[in-house]
Amino acid sequence: MSTQRSVDVVVIGAGPAGTSAAYHLKKAGASVCILEARERIGGRTRSDVMDGAWFEIGGQWVSPDQTELLAILDELGLHTYPRYREGDSIYLDHDGNTHRYQGEWFPTSEETLKEMKRLVEVMDELAAAMDPARPWDHPQAAELDSQTFEQWLATQSSDAEARKNIAIFVAGGMLTKPAYAFSALQAVFMACSAGSFSNLVDENFILNERVVGGMQKVSLTLAEKVGEENIILNCPVRTLEYSDEGVIARGDGGVEVRARYAILAIPPNLYDRITYVPELPRKLHIAHQHQSMGLVIKVHAAYETPWWREKGLSGTCFSSKNLVQEIYDNTNYGETRGTLVGFVTDKTAEEMFALPVEERKHQILTAMAKMLGDEVMNPIAYYESDWAAEEWTRGAYANSWDMGGLSRWGHTATEPVGPIHFACSDIAAEGFQHVDGALRRGRQVAGSLTQLLTEGKG
Ligand SMILES: Cc1cc2nc3c(=O)[nH]c(=O)nc-3n(C[C@H](O)[C@H](O)[C@H](O)COP(=O)(O)OP(=O)(O)OC[C@H]3O[C@@H](n4cnc5c(N)ncnc54)[C@H](O)[C@@H]3O)c2cc1C
Repeated sequence: MSTQRSVDVVVIGAGPAGTSAAYHLKKAGASVCILEARERIGGRTRSDVMDGAWFEIGGQWVSPDQTELLAILDELGLHTYPRYREGDSIYLDHDGNTHRYQGEWFPTSEETLKEMKRLVEVMDELAAAMDPARPWDHPQAAELDSQTFEQWLATQSSDAEARKNIAIFVAGGMLTKPAYAFSALQAVFMACSAGSFSNLVDENFILNERVVGGMQKVSLTLAEKVGEENIILNCPVRTLEYSDEGVIARGDGGVEVRARYAILAIPPNLYDRITYVPELPRKLHIAHQHQSMGLVIKVHAAYETPWWREKGLSGTCFSSKNLVQEIYDNTNYGETRGTLVGFVTDKTAEEMFALPVEERKHQILTAMAKMLGDEVMNPIAYYESDWAAEEWTRGAYANSWDMGGLSRWGHTATEPVGPIHFACSDIAAEGFQHVDGALRRGRQVAGSLTQLLTEGKG
């Protein structure tokens, strides 16, 4: 059965950006229709029962600088709770020795610590000189975009451990690409978008809180307000026809939505899954090929109790040497069960995916046990988030530019093409790659379109 609709704005994608855009448009009096490829709302945020335990499979953490997300949580009546962080953290050093420590800094040698602090200061200064909405205008943009983050760090310090430890905050920790695969400008932009590099290195800041009921609730509640009747699921958009008069979006199942404007609320690596009539401008055909997803396995392991707390451990572990580089206590709100979450990134994730399932699980748990103890080995539930295997995402956490891409094409990412406007976390200024940035872009684009619709009517 075919479905035909006619609305002011068609929104493609029902993740945080698309639901935010539709919510703000509807609040301003516009008619909307969201077309979503998956059978569910939420995009890269999803909470579900896997292997018998409830896990947050995608985006989950909230930090104090994420004012857009915090404001929406407040507006929607959703609550947050802090990440457990009492007790000692663990650092596995470059020689494979574990150290218990407290505070923000890894227990490295004094010289390495001094170097790390100095590098953080240098990054903070570079980030402070950047406007997150125009990173290509940074005074050193061209120079920083022509060196990989790894190369640039080598020009700044001769201390290999300090360089590796600093690199993981952007490479493994955020972009989920090796530090030789993105530029120093991209790294400075990541820091600038999060407020500063100091914010990125402070896990108590960047991984501060979670949403009671899970981050997916943000999109689900926004979608509820938009109204079920205005959302079509299982409807990948295949063709987008556009002209000065408006757009026609055609999706699976004979869905056809005519609208004055379209919002593309999908990550850039998926733009070319849609056929545009006429074609997009040449520059965008090229630019879109220079943004790509990283790769990460988010590992979830649940236990009868959070046993590490009895050992005086917070559950927080770091190592730039270990197969699992970061671990946190991810116990759900109000649960007596304990949950650990760990991250296996980029090349290591690829190596792990090449193994049989049981061997991979064994190697990952063994790497986690190296830091927290043998109790890790027997979880009651275990799950590996694998977003790269999902057709409507194809990687994790988000898109970043390849070498030289940000300074050359960054400015094209948010420029509308006729009636087509763009919103997603991957092209956000503040909150880049995060739910905050997705919501922000959604609201900003909704604001521009509300104005255009009003002018059009006037
Ligand atoms: C494992 C993981 C951990 C993360 N951790 C955090 C975190 O702790 N904190 C944080 O803030 N962020 C985190 N993120 C990032 C965060 O989840 C994303 O930045 C955010 O979800 C992006 O929202 P979006 O709406 O821009 O895109 P998405 O969430 O990707 O939504 C896009 C939607 O568009 C749909 N779509 C795609 N193509 C089409 C098409 N042709 N037609 C119709 N629909 C289409 C998709 O199905 C999807 O639903 C994490 C992400 C992952 C994967």
